[in-house]
Amino acid sequence: PFEVLIIGGGPAGSASAVYTARKGFRTGIAAERFGGQLQDTLGIENLPGTSYTEGPKLSDNLKAQVRENEIDLMDLALATQLKPAGQPGGMHEVTFANGAVLKARSLILSTGARWRNLGVPGEAEYRNKGVAYCPHCDGPLFKGKRIAVIGGGNSGVEAAIDLAKIVGHVTLVEFDTKLRADEVLQRKLRSLSNVEIITNGQTTEITGDGSRTNGLIVKDRESGTEQTIELEGVFIQIGLVPNTEWLKETGLELSKYGEIIIDQHGATNLPGIYAAGDATTVPDKQIVVAMGEGAKAGLGAFDYLIRNEPV
Ligand code: FAD
Repeated sequence: PFEVLIIGGGPAGSASAVYTARKGFRTGIAAERFGGQLQDTLGIENLPGTSYTEGPKLSDNLKAQVRENEIDLMDLALATQLKPAGQPGGMHEVTFANGAVLKARSLILSTGARWRNLGVPGEAEYRNKGVAYCPHCDGPLFKGKRIAVIGGGNSGVEAAIDLAKIVGHVTLVEFDTKLRADEVLQRKLRSLSNVEIITNGQTTEITGDGSRTNGLIVKDRESGTEQTIELEGVFIQIGLVPNTEWLKETGLELSKYGEIIIDQHGATNLPGIYAAGDATTVPDKQIVVAMGEGAKAGLGAFDYLIRNEPV
């Protein structure tokens, strides 16, 4: 059995593992895909201290550091069930899709999140070639260009306000008849001269020239007429889904969005179970934040282990 078992091998889980292993605790990481969202990320320019890196390269660096710290890494391991310990100091159990069961005195859940996809033709084909999901990450790549933001909730409207400062023109497309963002954000958005808002618009296709995005086809849901918007980029902002479906009905507290509720030490409501990164209620879903949160959860687990004798 492990003293610390980390579920998820993205930036958060890797950071947790390095912290607990360096405290001398027997640490394991079980991950469906080591690296997590880093494996889907091209350029990273906002990691402090590193002007430019690429997701797979950062993931390789994390893996090397995990190995140097003698952390047991189980890749391609999909957790499907959690059985929390009956009492503080007891063993938690995690079951995996292949039937294996791992036990640990403390757990750190860092299963991350996934962007909700539109599911239209062109979206997958032009991902990272004009189709983007993270305004903080990729906004500067579209300096002076024409872009669209899909989604008129808080994240879409915030993204449009943010991007309007960098890009040449923003078209915001909302499926519903009206925007759903907070009124104060909507007011700000409407005050910007380089933003156009389309409501009741269904995105039916993202077009491209074979190598990059060049347009968006939007159907008016009332009249049924389609228009093509010429542009260079599309930001899809229709939600981030935490990978926590397997944690429902375990006694672990989740928010209404399915995020694991944590305190400022990364502790969940269950003794000995910590969580970090995009799977949690931490508001900012970024690499540097996930790493910091992972370190916090690792130190939280350390504190728990030294205060609770094994039972
Ligand atoms: P993740 O990276 O999502 O890792 C989750 C881990 O958990 C993975 O190993 C996954 O396989 C595993 N997992 C999930 N479910 C299970 C399960 N049931 N059992 C076992 N393992 C499981 N942020 C930036 O700061 N800068 C950028 O430039 C940037 N660009 C991005 C570009 C793209 C295309 C995307 C998608 C994201 C980008 N982000 C960027 C966001 C950043 O990648 C995330 O905030 C960060 O990866 C979150 O780390 P995490 O460890 O919490 O989760």
